[in-house]
Amino acid sequence: MSSLKNNVNKTTEIDIAIIGGGSAGITLAAYLNNVRAVVVEPRTPIERDCSWAFWADSVQQKKFKAATKGSWQQWRLIDHQTEILHCSEKYLYTSLRSADYLAQCERALAEGVDLIRAPAENIRVNGLGGSFTAAGQDYKSAKIYDSRPPKIAEGVLKQHFFGWDIRTKAPISNPHIVTLMDFRVDQSRGLHFIYALPFSDRRLLVESTMISVSLEDKKWYRQAIHKWLQEQNIAIEEIVGEEMGIIPMQSVAPLDENIAAIGAASGAARLSSGYAFSGIQSQISKLAAGISRGHYSVPPPISPLLNSMDKIFTGVLLAHPELGVSIMMRTAKALDADGFARFMLGSATFFDWVKVVLAMPKVPFLKQVLRR
Ligand SMILES: Cc1cc2nc3c(=O)[nH]c(=O)nc-3n(C[C@H](O)[C@H](O)[C@H](O)COP(=O)(O)OP(=O)(O)OC[C@H]3O[C@@H](n4cnc5c(N)ncnc54)[C@H](O)[C@@H]3O)c2cc1C
Repeated sequence: MSSLKNNVNKTTEIDIAIIGGGSAGITLAAYLNNVRAVVVEPRTPIERDCSWAFWADSVQQKKFKAATKGSWQQWRLIDHQTEILHCSEKYLYTSLRSADYLAQCERALAEGVDLIRAPAENIRVNGLGGSFTAAGQDYKSAKIYDSRPPKIAEGVLKQHFFGWDIRTKAPISNPHIVTLMDFRVDQSRGLHFIYALPFSDRRLLVESTMISVSLEDKKWYRQAIHKWLQEQNIAIEEIVGEEMGIIPMQSVAPLDENIAAIGAASGAARLSSGYAFSGIQSQISKLAAGISRGHYSVPPPISPLLNSMDKIFTGVLLAHPELGVSIMMRTAKALDADGFARFMLGSATFFDWVKVVLAMPKVPFLKQVLRR
């Protein structure tokens, strides 16, 4: 890591400042070259550790190998009637240890790009740039990108989850299959499913995930996990870690509308699924390529068309939460494994879309389209 020349109490002038060194911010910082830049992030990677999962093609499998915690060719969705099992040769469902990814990017920063382990404060915007303080030092930057988490408005549909990283007493069956969504759980408070990633036959990340407007208390998610584990005959030897999160499923607003937002703050989390990793990677690689040519505007992380389709989907979920399980199961059933991966990655083909549209319950979707 390089060190910018600065004098305490004097303003350090830089070309690019990135506020927040999470998935988007540190990825952008690691791409920068031949600029004077800082990325400002108060927390260490380990303090923010969680699992980031996505469908990786062969190029991404290599690119993210060092931070990969687990990868699977097979994934399943289950309700009381059906189990849909997808098996892909092309895409691996891949879970990264976020701390490893972030630390790897921090180590890769070029000469002239500094990491400041402190919050950015007193941010003042001036055109595309502005000034701020961090760790007692004043900075003035020609360009500022802001990746601080967005505001979540009251009353919006959210994906909220709580999970445990557990060691099991006995080997579990099928450790080579990811359970993306098991809907055989309490559906009385919103669309609810269990998500389970078997990292080995004794190690499992198991999460209770809800799609609803109101959050539950921790006890509720814990009970759901316990019940599901009991039904699968899985006994806990040790709870190694906990993970929780809230991802808005309706449009978000950045903390400061006047600063160019990147990552989740710019709407990178898919409204229909909450997946953001792939959208962030593609947004940031385009932005970095632009910066190297002197173009500083932030590309949208998700195409406007896809965003509109996702909004119709979340509109139907809000109006008809009781249809949630059937919509997800029909989507998975309509597509083969590669089509499903493309669909979740936001790169579905025309024919993938036709299959999904034909599989949907028509009346609620038509009503939602007409309402917009
Ligand atoms: C627990 C969890 C699990 C998730 N799992 C997945 C997944 O499996 N797959 C997927 O695709 N998506 C997942 N997501 C969604 C999304 O990928 C992540 O939220 C991702 O971290 C978003 O990246 P980001 O850079 O936009 O924001 P973040 O990674 O949240 O980075 C924002 C950074 O800003 C910093 N910050 C805040 N205030 C200041 C300040 N004043 N000054 C400087 N820095 C500041 C924060 O410390 C933080 O590190 C998950 C989200 C959560 C919360």
